[in-house]
Amino acid sequence: MDGRLGDSTRSVLAAGSAAEPGRPVTPPPVPAAAYHLSPDESAPIDTYGRASNPTWRQFESALADLEGATSALSFASGMAAITAALRVVATPGSTLVVPADGYYQVRRYAAESLAPRGVTVREAVAADMCDAARGADVVIAETPVNPTLDVVDLHHLATVCRSRDAILLVDNTAPTPLGQQPLSLGADLVVASATKGLSGHSDLLAGYVAGSRPELMAAVERERLLGGAVLGTFEAWLALRSLGSAGLRIERQCANAMAVALLLRRHPAVTAVRYPGLPEDPAHAVAAAQMKRFGGLVSVELADADAVHALAARSALLVAATSFGGLHTSIDRRARWGDPVGAGFARLSMGIEDTDDLLADLEQALA
Ligand SMILES: *Cc1c(COP(=O)(O)O)cnc(C)c1O
Repeated sequence: MDGRLGDSTRSVLAAGSAAEPGRPVTPPPVPAAAYHLSPDESAPIDTYGRASNPTWRQFESALADLEGATSALSFASGMAAITAALRVVATPGSTLVVPADGYYQVRRYAAESLAPRGVTVREAVAADMCDAARGADVVIAETPVNPTLDVVDLHHLATVCRSRDAILLVDNTAPTPLGQQPLSLGADLVVASATKGLSGHSDLLAGYVAGSRPELMAAVERERLLGGAVLGTFEAWLALRSLGSAGLRIERQCANAMAVALLLRRHPAVTAVRYPGLPEDPAHAVAAAQMKRFGGLVSVELADADAVHALAARSALLVAATSFGGLHTSIDRRARWGDPVGAGFARLSMGIEDTDDLLADLEQALA
């Protein structure tokens, strides 16, 4: 697709069908487990539902386009995508660096499933990723880190990885490809959950791997075929349908995040705020260099757990929910899940409500 087009135009085009008279403007789902076979046994066609599906293909070509990748592979969830990619690249005997401050289940998978199979697993916080990469064969980085919103310098990290032939995977869930394109900064593979902002309606689970190295993508596809964690056709269709409005939704979420971060940073009930878009945020300079948009997540520290619950209770708009990137603004006290953060730490995920309504609601709920 034409790289000069804006993100909303690209996401609208990505969610459409080829312009053929009589065809639906947007593609219908193709639920199929088995397909009629060709007598020409070498013909590249759909044969069986775990191997390929036309609805996946359309979703995947949209994802590849948005990520600036040659190809993308859809999975049943973000974890299905991430763990398939890790099984391919983190082979027994290798050293894998995972985020110590990132999405906790990735760390757990590395510790509980890869370490017992002979992978040396090291954890590093965002600020130490580049140093840790100097001893690694495989690095999976996440930026901005969920939930603290610290930022990893991807260009620097990719340079370190390349200098020692280490493979760099970047979890692009929080920023989405509309906010950040890790492949253009030197990553080998993007892994992500499409459950969050990319599909954006809190109604499905999906994940993907995107990249431009054919041998890596072929190995991940083989792992998907054999591992079987494939995306359901209807989820693929819903996710594709959601992509059409991704530009609009993400724009609004980012605008809401900036406005909310500015409100919170001057509020007496707030101990600390992190948002990479705030000029005084310690991660702002790196974020501004590598991100197109700063995303819809804001992290905030209140006095204690009760203050977080009270904020949610007094607000008319905040939904108390884990996950993020949906239509509704939501709040999640992360210590509840064991994240290494204070008791009053909450991750706010911006919805697409009108900015003024959100600010007025938060103001009264914090009072
Ligand atoms: C949610 C999340 C995942 C896991 O995605 P699922 O779709 O829930 O499996 C991975 N990485 C990050 C950063 C996430 O926020």
